[in-house]
Amino acid sequence: MKVFHNARFWHNSTFENDVKAILTHDGKIVALLTELPESTQDYDFVDLKGNYVYPGFIDTHTHSFEGGLYSLMIDLGGARSLQDVFDLIAEGKRDKGKFIFAWNFDELKIAEGRFPTRAELDSIVSDKNLVLRRIDGHSCLINSFACSNILSQTGNILSADEVFRGFDNDRAVHWFHNNIEPELILKAYHAASQIALKGGFSTIHTMVGDANMSIGHYSLLQEHLADFGVDFVLYPQSFNIEAALEVGAQRIGGCILADGSLGSYSAALYEPYRGHSINGNLYQTDAYWYDFITRAHQNNLQVGVHCIGDRAITQINNVYMALANSDFKDLRHQLIHCELTDDALINHIKASGAVPVMQPMFDRLWGGESGFYAKVLGQERAKHMNRFATMLSRGIKITGSSDWYITELNIVASLAAAMNHHNPAEALTAAQAIDIYTKNAAWLSHDEDVKGQLLPDMMADFTVMNYDLKKPGADNKVVATIKAGKLLYGNL
Ligand SMILES: [Zn+2]
Ligand SMILES: [Zn+2]
Repeated sequence: MKVFHNARFWHNSTFENDVKAILTHDGKIVALLTELPESTQDYDFVDLKGNYVYPGFIDTHTHSFEGGLYSLMIDLGGARSLQDVFDLIAEGKRDKGKFIFAWNFDELKIAEGRFPTRAELDSIVSDKNLVLRRIDGHSCLINSFACSNILSQTGNILSADEVFRGFDNDRAVHWFHNNIEPELILKAYHAASQIALKGGFSTIHTMVGDANMSIGHYSLLQEHLADFGVDFVLYPQSFNIEAALEVGAQRIGGCILADGSLGSYSAALYEPYRGHSINGNLYQTDAYWYDFITRAHQNNLQVGVHCIGDRAITQINNVYMALANSDFKDLRHQLIHCELTDDALINHIKASGAVPVMQPMFDRLWGGESGFYAKVLGQERAKHMNRFATMLSRGIKITGSSDWYITELNIVASLAAAMNHHNPAEALTAAQAIDIYTKNAAWLSHDEDVKGQLLPDMMADFTVMNYDLKKPGADNKVVATIKAGKLLYGNL
């Protein structure tokens, strides 16, 4: 048995309690102790050095495959000239396999102000598949070796334009993702697991699949779940209900799209974008969603759908509402992102029982009077973005997440973002911010009896930090991440 002691423990939503130590056995919490036990040979004492212990944090929405994979690949974010790009790729290609991803390319930061040509890529990598992806993921360039492989394997003729956008961009990137070796896929998840532990998470929800009909490497990952440090909660990110049922999934969806993004003016709004006449796109009809979500619901699958604009959120929530009224089941269907909501829509979400799976870092990056949201939506509507506090106050159980690799996988930054919302009316208290990454997050995957709190019979998952969130200071950090009683990150 282990005794974790010399720390403050987050219990009953406060550090002001008389818990002096936590006794664990076989990866589970046995008891919260108000006194340190006598040392005997039965006890293995773990000194937490006066730090602060939170329940292991849970991120409820990540794209860990891409996040992990790209952490192993070539980051072009620092390149300022095409020569920099070529040097980074030449240097980075050496320890890579048959598939090389160079990402984070931004032609606006490059002196020449343009993408490389295919011939230039070929002169650096001619015998391996190379894709160079733009920073936003919406365009890419591939070398001739990859072009001819895609043509011979799929028969797809790709556009004559060397820089792929739209459909060609999706097809090319999917081909890369679908063809990399199993060994590299698992390596990507191991890297993701390490990054999560370092970021203070012991559990992360992860989207697997191409968001169309393929559930990708779901089975491969499922077979290896026990090998990773963190717990992965898997989502077959697909419209393929049969495939999800076949692998025994409990849920389906993820960033399967009801609408697009604000940056590309494709998030579906009721009112037009500021200074434009367009108001975004619904990617599917009401009937399509009604059919898909109903079939998933009938098969007891929890559903998650990406919806950013108020029109898209309404479209998906209407289906959840209809099912709640006609065939209620405690499946906890998800509105992923759920960014733009007025009071009436929040009331509808409360009525449907849907769960907004939200990203505090989005407000950190794009909120504020001169921020990106205000630019594309105008000041008034920007105040209706990411309404964490209002939703919680109406009794809606929102959960916290990063959408990593879109934002960083880091609990310190995520909690600070939730508590320092640009709109003070939507800022969370320390206890609320912790809840959306612990209790509420555990509840989302029906794990509220085993995770999310420091209580007997729960997993001994702890995130050890050097600060009390109620009094954050400058040098806040994750000191250690403990999963099932084992130290998996940090030094104690
Ligand atoms: Zn996502
Ligand atoms: Zn999304």
